[in-house]
Amino acid sequence: MGLSRSVEGLGVLVTGAGSGMGRATAKVFAEVGASVAVTDIDGDAVEAVVQEVVRDGGVASGWVMDVSDQNQVEKVVDGVAAKFGQLDIVINNAGISKFVAIDSNEYLDAWTTCLDVLVTGQIRVIRAALPHLRQSDCARIVNIASTEGLGATKFASAYTTAKHGVIGLTRSLAVELGGEAITVNCICPGPINTGMTASISDADKAVFARRRTALGRYGEPEEVAHATLNFCLPASRYITGAVLPVDGGLTIKNA
Ligand code: NAD
Repeated sequence: MGLSRSVEGLGVLVTGAGSGMGRATAKVFAEVGASVAVTDIDGDAVEAVVQEVVRDGGVASGWVMDVSDQNQVEKVVDGVAAKFGQLDIVINNAGISKFVAIDSNEYLDAWTTCLDVLVTGQIRVIRAALPHLRQSDCARIVNIASTEGLGATKFASAYTTAKHGVIGLTRSLAVELGGEAITVNCICPGPINTGMTASISDADKAVFARRRTALGRYGEPEEVAHATLNFCLPASRYITGAVLPVDGGLTIKNA
C-alpha cells in the first residue's frame, strides 16, 4: 500500500452518516472509490444517503446503528466487515448536543446522554472494530470532537466535557495502538452548517462567524470531510494522535 494517496477499495464505516458531516464524509469517501457503510440511528436518513451514493456511482451499504446500543454496534460492525470482506477505516462522527445549566433539573440526564453517545459510543465502535482493523494494511480511526474539546461555551458543560474526553481518548489510543500501525486522530470542527446548527438563524450565524472566526463564515460539512479523508490516506501513516481544528480559525483568533 506504501505511500499511496488513494483509499480506493478500502472499507469505511461512518457513524451518524445520515446527516451533516457524517453524510458528507460518506459521500466524499465513496467519490474516491472506498466502500462505505452508512450507519445512523435514523433508518430513513441512512436509506436516503445510500441512494445518493449509489446514484452517484459509489459503493455503499446502509445500517441502522445506535452507538449507545452495545449489541447493535457489535452486530453491525461485524456485519459491515463481513459484507465488504474488510474494515479498514472507522469514522466516529455520531453526535447530539445539549445546552443545559449545571443547576438545572435536566442536567444529569444531559450529562449521561452526552457521555454515553459522544464518548462511550466511540469506544463501543472502536472496540468492536479492532479485530477487523488489525487485519488491515491501512487501519485508521478518526474521532470527531469539536472546538468545545479545546475551549468552552456557557451551558454546554456536559457536551464540552464529552468533547474534551474525545481528545483524551484519541491521544490514549494513538499511544496504545501505535505499535500495531493503527492510527487514531481527531478533528475539532468549528461552526459548521449541519442539522445540529440548523435552528440558528442565518443572521445569528453571520454575526457569530464574523466576530469569532478568521475566515468570517460558517464551514460546510464537506470541508470537514476532506480533512477526515486526509487522515485516512495510506500516505498519512505517520500521523497519529493529532488534534486538528477545522474551524475557520476560531481557536486562534483573539480579536
Ligand atoms: P447532525 O445533527 O447533522 O448529524 C448528526 C447525526 O448523528 C444525525 O444523523 C443523527 O441521527 C446521528 N445520531 C445522533 N445520535 C446517534 C446515535 N446514538 N447513534 C447513531 N447516530 C446518532 O450534526 P453534525 O453537526 O453533522 O454532527 C456530527 C458531529 O460533529 C457530532 O459529533 C457533533 O458533535 C460534531 N460537531 C458539530 C459541529 C457543528 O457546528 N455542526 C461543531 C463541532 C462538532
